[in-house]
Amino acid sequence: MDYEHARQRMVRYQVKGRGIRDLSLLAAMGDVPREEFVAEQFRPAAYRDGPIPIGYGQTISQPYVVALMTNALRVRSGDKILEVGTGSGYQAAVLASMGATVFTIERQVPLAEQARQTLERLGYDQVTVRAGDGSVGWAEEAPFDGILVGAAGPTIPTPLLQQLKEGGHLIIPVEEHKGMQKLLRITRRDDGRYDREELGEVAFVPLIGEEGWEPEHRGYWQ
Ligand code: SAH
Repeated sequence: MDYEHARQRMVRYQVKGRGIRDLSLLAAMGDVPREEFVAEQFRPAAYRDGPIPIGYGQTISQPYVVALMTNALRVRSGDKILEVGTGSGYQAAVLASMGATVFTIERQVPLAEQARQTLERLGYDQVTVRAGDGSVGWAEEAPFDGILVGAAGPTIPTPLLQQLKEGGHLIIPVEEHKGMQKLLRITRRDDGRYDREELGEVAFVPLIGEEGWEPEHRGYWQ
């Protein structure tokens, strides 16, 4: 399997071909070895146009969804980014590859541990992984230039709004109406108010925690 070739095709057809133009993002996705973030048996499928199971009922997002969210975040080199839902660590690696310093939280302890190992092995040392509930953010490291959430809750968690810098974006899927998730971009204005934009309909695993769903909640993938 020629992963390098598969990766460049993925960037060309699934990302660039669908209108993503940010050169730093295209370069990052052309660089991060997605096959290293999935289990052995899923490696040949690493660059297909869809999500892939990573265990514990969770998935690594479709490449285009990673691109769409990262693009909406408007990442610049040197930015301090909070990611909620580390999963495999792939999204964190893409952000780090764009020059961001990344703080990422995962509630499933074994996933956090595995992502930490993968990121370390591949040399993404500007990523810090923590196991815990990211729906309340990461107060000690706040404020952030941007926050990206890879799981959908019923509402926008207030702590995440509070931990955003002025001018910063929060990219988050929310399920305000049952069975319908919308990807939102919330921007903190310098007058202290927030702008809200809808980026389309999406299907994410549930955000479970203090500012998310109860642990019994069943989402799209369970
Ligand atoms: N961005 C990831 C995929 C995220 S899947 C990647 O690149 O692989 C969403 C993840 O969010 C799952 O691993 C799930 O366990 C986690 N999650 C759900 N609720 C959470 C919470 N409150 N805090 C932190 N992680 C959470």
